[in-house]
Amino acid sequence: MASRSTQCLLTLTRSYSSKADKNVTFLGLGNMGGFMAANLAKQGFTVTGYDPSKDALKAAAKNGVSGADSIAAAVESADVVVSILPSNKVVLEAYLGKDGVVAHAPKGSLLIDSSTVDPNVPKQIFPVATEKGVGFIDAPVSGGVMGAQNATLAFMAGGRKEDFDRSIPHLKAMGAKQFHCGDIGAGQVAKLTNNMLMGITGMATAECMNMGIKMGLNPQVLLDVLNNSSARSWSTEVYCPVPGLVPTAPSSRNYDGGFKNELMVKDLELASGMALGIRSPIPLGAVATQLYRIVQSRGYGQKDFSFVYQLLKEENKNN
Ligand code: NAD
Repeated sequence: MASRSTQCLLTLTRSYSSKADKNVTFLGLGNMGGFMAANLAKQGFTVTGYDPSKDALKAAAKNGVSGADSIAAAVESADVVVSILPSNKVVLEAYLGKDGVVAHAPKGSLLIDSSTVDPNVPKQIFPVATEKGVGFIDAPVSGGVMGAQNATLAFMAGGRKEDFDRSIPHLKAMGAKQFHCGDIGAGQVAKLTNNMLMGITGMATAECMNMGIKMGLNPQVLLDVLNNSSARSWSTEVYCPVPGLVPTAPSSRNYDGGFKNELMVKDLELASGMALGIRSPIPLGAVATQLYRIVQSRGYGQKDFSFVYQLLKEENKNN
């Protein structure tokens, strides 16, 4: 007879390899979703995709994702629906609209929204889905397009624990880490908190490195000091805003292929709205929001957000 631990292992292995909840519908086949849907298909799920862009559907078809003509048609026989869409408005319409996901998803299915949105969005969807006998979690992601491509995304989820547990095989097919952060909306709170801190440390790193370099320090020496001192952070180690010091950082490839400044502005605005709602003081978050907005208004919204260093450097020239 198998020992208890062996039995436990067998159960886990069986539930993962048997691909329960095999039929997956994927909504939003853009920069992130295109790769995420492809990774689900690669892991043996049967994936149906919907996106209003014909080009996105065509590209997904090459990766084993069959296309549908509407949200209603895409979700009608889904076990699980995954979405990653651009904004609050699009998510609310896609889920709660007359021809949306909740109206057409089968009873007993599970809906996973990975878009970055205001925490109130999943809080509005959850009760309507529950009423219809459908599970719903928010599960935004960190890791960017590279993480989506390489299935190394980190998912931060909010919702019922049993729904989160049920989503694990799907999240594992698309990413490397999965966190259950709490009740519905908690994933968005974690995501927006992380991104506001990332925006603030990015801005602070750009500002202080610009000052040290202008004072005559060798940029490499300055970075070595920072990375071995108390100011060390992800921004100094991995994402240095000064070109040429960290070869893999977006700054070293003309600020392309990173986390777009316009997405940073979006997340800071969402985080600011969240903070306003609970009157949590965000003096640094507010400055960061304004600074990245200025980068965008100068026409650099498509560049990585560490481009803010170039803006500060340019300001120096005027003195
Ligand atoms: P994107 O614009 O490349 O893709 C969004 C896709 O959604 C588009 O293909 C669009 O046609 C499609 N779409 C629009 N309305 C739709 C609908 N009603 N039904 C189905 N599809 C619809 O955006 P992206 O970069 O993939 O980002 C998507 C989400 O992921 C955003 O919320 C973003 O904030 C978040 N995010 C992006 C990154 C990143 O690095 N790009 C990282 C983390 C999180």
